[in-house]
Amino acid sequence: MAQTQHHFLLVTYPVQGHINPALEFSKRLIILGVKVTFTIPVSAYRKMIKAGRVPEGFNFVVFSDGFDDGFNSNTNDHMLFMTQMKRRGSETLKETILSNSAQNNGSTPITCLVYTPLLPWAAEVARGLNVPSALLWIQPASILRVYYYYFNGYDKLIRDCCNEPSWSIELPGLPSLKSRDLPSFCFPSNPYGFILDAVKEQLDMVASEEKPIIFVNSFDALEEEALKEIDDGKLSMIAIGPLVPRGDLVFEKSKDDDDIMEWMTTKPKGSIVYVAFGSLLVLTKKQKDAIAQGLLGSERPFLWVIRDEDANLKGEEGEENKEKLSCMEELEKLGLIVPWCSQLEVLSHPSLGCFVTHCGWNSTLESIVCGVPVVAFPHWNDQPMNAKLLADVWETGVRVAPNEDGAVEGEEIRKCIEMVMADDEKGIAMRNNANKWKDLASAAVKETGSSNTNLKSFLELI
Ligand code: UDP
Repeated sequence: MAQTQHHFLLVTYPVQGHINPALEFSKRLIILGVKVTFTIPVSAYRKMIKAGRVPEGFNFVVFSDGFDDGFNSNTNDHMLFMTQMKRRGSETLKETILSNSAQNNGSTPITCLVYTPLLPWAAEVARGLNVPSALLWIQPASILRVYYYYFNGYDKLIRDCCNEPSWSIELPGLPSLKSRDLPSFCFPSNPYGFILDAVKEQLDMVASEEKPIIFVNSFDALEEEALKEIDDGKLSMIAIGPLVPRGDLVFEKSKDDDDIMEWMTTKPKGSIVYVAFGSLLVLTKKQKDAIAQGLLGSERPFLWVIRDEDANLKGEEGEENKEKLSCMEELEKLGLIVPWCSQLEVLSHPSLGCFVTHCGWNSTLESIVCGVPVVAFPHWNDQPMNAKLLADVWETGVRVAPNEDGAVEGEEIRKCIEMVMADDEKGIAMRNNANKWKDLASAAVKETGSSNTNLKSFLELI
């Protein structure tokens, strides 16, 4: 049923991992007849224009967050960025809501404001102007559950478990978790205390709403237990994912894409190892050399994304990262190293065999949507939990084991690639599982699928 009276206002934290799912969510709303206005900082909008990828059917409101050339986490002040984003973002949301109010002839009043994490001020603006608001949670429901329990009486238990690698913790709706699976921000040693504070502020804000609404970028079949309501509805989630762009929404298309596809096409079916660690993570030269050893040892064609920003690290690490990888010549004979690629196109290519991933939630969902088995190589944030789910719950891959110093050695990477690519019982089972989840993900976003139905029910309710 068309819902032409609805007008959603979206605002996202300006990094690719937030913008892409929010754009995809908007696209789904538009299909259901909802009008969408998308507020976006200048830097992110410029990137879209440069890539020739401004999606159609959206009304964009572009604002300056004070970092029009983009925020660089190595050289810019994070607190200043957050403060400016809050001030200028709040002003923009307020102006947009007011300029669309019923008093203005011909405008469609905003019926819901949707914001991604780290922007609790967005909910404040909505509340001040009596507009319903909803959080768009861009990590799995399982992580939201851990944070909920952490902030509701389990903090000591979780912190104790973080400190004792041999312990396990049982939380309702979740598999048994060890310290290596828990979100890194819960660790007592976590240097990013302000992020945990921001998550708390965010969840407190949602909880204080009369009818708290959280959209989750997941789907019912994938996280059946984790998506169940917590504490008699104190936290209820609406799964509307996987919010993975289908076709035209890949944000940054790289100029190398045609060459990459051409190269992939020359390789046998299911033979290529794809290695990528998302848009933010920077690896040390030592870790990259270990990956190189693992890839050379596997003797399989590979496509490896090493972003240019890897040389932007400060101090010694940055200098080291500017150095060429050891064994560059051998690597170039076997595979392709690129600064960026259209990951979804790569994951959908028939020559792809497996994905060595840092397990960011978008990459995790993309591996599921494309039915690609993984070598899970998590680093921080939600990645360890995503790796746990991939390896032990959905069973679409294996997880690397770090050595005593916390580093992952080349031989371990080679062994994991072999396990996932092998034609033995275990390798075949992982590929079958990957295909099973691919089918379930595709079913969830069909017209009568769970995610579409959940979204339609919500639109009928508000
Ligand atoms: N990505 C891409 N090309 C690359 C590397 C990454 O298009 O060469 C995309 C990837 O498809 C995903 C996003 O960047 O949508 C990364 O998001 P994720 O949540 O996996 O990790 P983050 O960047 O937030 O750590």
